Amino acid sequence: MKIIKEINQDILDSDIFLIPTMGALHEGHLSLIEEGKKFGLLIMVSIFVNEIQFNQEEDFISYPRPIEDDIKILQDLNVDYLFIPENNYIYSKNAFETIDSGVLGKQYEGSSRPGHFDGVLTVVNRLFELINPKVAIFGKKDAQQLFLIKEMNKERGLEIEIIEGKTIRESSGLALSSRNLLLSDRGKEKAALLYRILKEVKKEFSDRRELDAFELLSSRYLNIGIDYLEILDLETFSKPTEKTDKYIILVAAIIEDVRLIDNIEFKLEDE
Ligand code: AMP
Repeated sequence: MKIIKEINQDILDSDIFLIPTMGALHEGHLSLIEEGKKFGLLIMVSIFVNEIQFNQEEDFISYPRPIEDDIKILQDLNVDYLFIPENNYIYSKNAFETIDSGVLGKQYEGSSRPGHFDGVLTVVNRLFELINPKVAIFGKKDAQQLFLIKEMNKERGLEIEIIEGKTIRESSGLALSSRNLLLSDRGKEKAALLYRILKEVKKEFSDRRELDAFELLSSRYLNIGIDYLEILDLETFSKPTEKTDKYIILVAAIIEDVRLIDNIEFKLEDE
């Protein structure tokens, strides 16, 4: 595995499958790498803790950075390139474009984290520009992020194939996240309730087909610090209409000062 800090001509001449991450690698990241291996391209994992997508400095500072462990994991997986850029390479003076994540970028996760999605799109666009990957993969765990990246890719005519990685969970249902490292055992138990809530809301909504069903439910779980619980049309990422075919329920909560998000997708059976 080559560890690089800058992109060179060899890379630009290769067909790259890119897996952008912020490190503190877990099985969720590894599943994206496994997906990548099916493509027969050179695999590049990037690790860059992107300060501009953090809206709170403490969150950026406390973000886990076990880089030696990450390097070992990626070496064992025979990844071709590990790209660990410096901040001033990604954000070299005047050489990068700031991307506006628009109206959707200010809703849901973006409403609680102003500027977050502008930061995410700006770094992803910059990585795409620097690396020019043939394919890039993003996890469905960060559904709003994935949606916005796909939109950006389309709007800017970037011609990069975007693959969606399924969410990997612990047996408790807790979606794997680098932030789980910051939780106590008790916090992890609470966090596992998020997936239970998603499944219950899905069931309640499927049975009653009423939007307020989930509002009732969120009040049942007030003590776990839910920030938002939303049911949306998966294709448009806006409120469902009669035309909605696939739904997504988003949840965010703050547990032990750690921000966690999760979601579930579904179709209504037999209308
Ligand atoms: P992060 O390092 O948290 O920025 O995540 C890097 C990539 O891994 C993103 O595309 C995430 O959506 C994805 N990811 C994070 N958690 C999971 C998970 N539990 N299962 C699958 N993919 C994930």
